[in-house]
Amino acid sequence: MNKITRTIKLKFVNLNRCKAQMFEQMTEENTRIANKLLSWPIKERRQMTTAKIMSELKSALVNQVIRHTTSPTGRQTKQYKVLPVEVNNQNWKLSQKGSTYSISFPTLKGEKRIPIEVASPHWQPVLDGLLRGTIQGGSFKLIKHRNKWYAYLSITEDVPEVETEKRLGCDRGQNNLAVVAPQQGFGKFFKGHSVKHRRRYFQQRRQQLQEAKKFRALKKWNKKERRWMDAINHTISCRIVRFAESHNADVVIEDLEGCRNTMKQSKKSRSDSGESRHNWSYYSLEQKLNYKLALKGLKLIKRPAPYTSKSCSTCGVIGKRNRQDFNCPNGHYHNSDLNASRNLSQWDGFCCQLDLQRDASVMDSSGLTDGVFGTPPNSMNTVKQEEYIQLSLFDWARYENPTLSA
Ligand SMILES: [Zn+2]
Repeated sequence: MNKITRTIKLKFVNLNRCKAQMFEQMTEENTRIANKLLSWPIKERRQMTTAKIMSELKSALVNQVIRHTTSPTGRQTKQYKVLPVEVNNQNWKLSQKGSTYSISFPTLKGEKRIPIEVASPHWQPVLDGLLRGTIQGGSFKLIKHRNKWYAYLSITEDVPEVETEKRLGCDRGQNNLAVVAPQQGFGKFFKGHSVKHRRRYFQQRRQQLQEAKKFRALKKWNKKERRWMDAINHTISCRIVRFAESHNADVVIEDLEGCRNTMKQSKKSRSDSGESRHNWSYYSLEQKLNYKLALKGLKLIKRPAPYTSKSCSTCGVIGKRNRQDFNCPNGHYHNSDLNASRNLSQWDGFCCQLDLQRDASVMDSSGLTDGVFGTPPNSMNTVKQEEYIQLSLFDWARYENPTLSA
């Protein structure tokens, strides 16, 4: 069993102005207390109790503020702009009446029960799990986003691990944002054509705004691009997970850490937003894949990136890649992205075949007595040459010196 924690966003439904104002007040009060606490040294903060703090807020909520300011993150904070109200797991309750779910917690006007909206079909089973007790609820935060109030609830659930030997490889790139493929059989392509187009458009507008020095608009524009990329990554990761589920397989991706520095890209394609490798958030796709797979009990496995796109997935020999074509010296042809993802899927236990007889003779003839690339001498090499006794059917001594008598 794996324990998986995530946060779900629950919207308060039909929140009247009175309650919205109350939430606002609570948040203000919460922030005020937190900032007051921060003005004291950490030692004093630790000894603080709710009784010593004068506030309209309920002690359960004040307690949470004290905890927050003494936590590692709180200790580094100088001042809070806004600190949302946090309700810990013992102080809220979920209830259901008919088809409406509601959450009750202490507010300024006592304990209130406020209905919440089941916005996404994903949340329905989660809420039912919370009511039945199969899913544990943690604390939740009251957060205002775009003039709407939400409860950000953290939940922990047990997911049975799926034991599987099968693997899918997932190669990420530009022409295809992602290609997933099993060792044999059809793969899935996520083409990046329209994405490229749209990214160029984003870049163009960004430059215009930059030149016009419209920085506020620029910030907005960048956020818009980010949201759009996020949405695409969500879609792709979701489909990959579905594909993995149908194959009952773990997913292997290449470890792209540091790939920006090592992967070469010409200046021209680097400056073209459609082609640049820097702008696409592969990392976010990876994170999304990771947690979505974990929810299904599957794993995301990372393997080193070098040679995944250079070796042939059929025979393991290093071949030539020319854009989307991959050709191997043994005559195998593959689509290069598909080839890379196949390589990833069979990464473990797959290596290029070493022809022992042939390679040993090559090593001998080149005089590499202490192994390839001057590796440290092993126990065989340290033995002195004189101690060898030649065991051979062929009598070398007589061959070299025919006059020698038998
Ligand atoms: Zn081949």
